[in-house]
Amino acid sequence: MDISVVIPLYNEEESIPELYAWIERVMKANGYSYEVIFVNDGSTDRSWEIIEQLKANSKAVKGIKFRRNYGKSPALFCGFEQAEGEVVITMDADLQDSPDEIPKLYDMITKEGYDLVSGWKQKRYDPLSKTIPTKLFNATARRVSGIKNLHDFNCGLKAYRKAVVKNIEVYGEMHRYIPYLAKNAGFKKIGEKVVQHQARKFGKTKFGGMNRFFNGYLDLITLWFLSTFGIKPMHFFGLLGSLMFILGFISVIIVGVTKLYSMYNGLPYRLVTDSPYFYLSLTAMIIGTQLFLAGFIGELISRNSPERNNYQIEKII
Ligand code: UDP
Ligand code: MG
Repeated sequence: MDISVVIPLYNEEESIPELYAWIERVMKANGYSYEVIFVNDGSTDRSWEIIEQLKANSKAVKGIKFRRNYGKSPALFCGFEQAEGEVVITMDADLQDSPDEIPKLYDMITKEGYDLVSGWKQKRYDPLSKTIPTKLFNATARRVSGIKNLHDFNCGLKAYRKAVVKNIEVYGEMHRYIPYLAKNAGFKKIGEKVVQHQARKFGKTKFGGMNRFFNGYLDLITLWFLSTFGIKPMHFFGLLGSLMFILGFISVIIVGVTKLYSMYNGLPYRLVTDSPYFYLSLTAMIIGTQLFLAGFIGELISRNSPERNNYQIEKII
């Protein structure tokens, strides 16, 4: 099979028939063998009935129904597990992404050797409240992930070599960082293609509000931490803890020396607790020890984690 199209959806009843007809048109015109996997993420409208109807009329349709709304990441992950095509294309269900992009994306994977190609909605038809935070967010993601050539990490339209989707785990709200996940799994050739973008035709966005923004950044920090220190937490906590402890140690020496100096020189007797260095050393040494212990506990957890030795073997000859 050439292509699997994975479409996560949550309450998109108006868009599905039009979207499917359009995909079918593109696939037939290019002679691809394909499947379209709809992952119904707990929709409360008629989305699922519509998918069942499509399924009845076409063998290329697969439908997965979640018992409730879990979010876009689990929906994508589940679609990835089911996908059989050599190239996997993800697409939003709301008709904002154009199926006409499929052939070019397919060629970039199969002919130009990309592992992952992300769409770039260079010209976006979304409200400003969405586009401005997105710019900030992408700039941060570029820096943190080191994938410098991507402008639009969160674009729903992406194409993957099959091996990529089978070797990454998209959980929580990590769908925003799939290129970063792919890079961490060892897939290096990550590219971008400018894609057409439409305004949402039906319904409204499922990712509104400030939460989206903060959660997005917290997830990025988590990913950075996991990919940098995930299997060696002591390198993070140990360093911080040692620095703190050294700071405390230096200031304890200052306290002691000042005390002795004033005693032997007959200066007026002062309590050590009068010195700011006393408090500094106390806090720094306690926090330093705590950080060190956190590092040890982190190591104990990571030793027992199923992912501690999750090296992926690309090929054995
Ligand atoms: N979606 C989903 N589960 C959710 C939220 C969204 O499967 O909990 C789907 C949604 O139906 C759409 C895609 O994810 O197909 C992108 O969502 P949306 O268009 O609301 O995001 P935006 O384009 O506004 O960023
Ligand atoms: Mg949308």
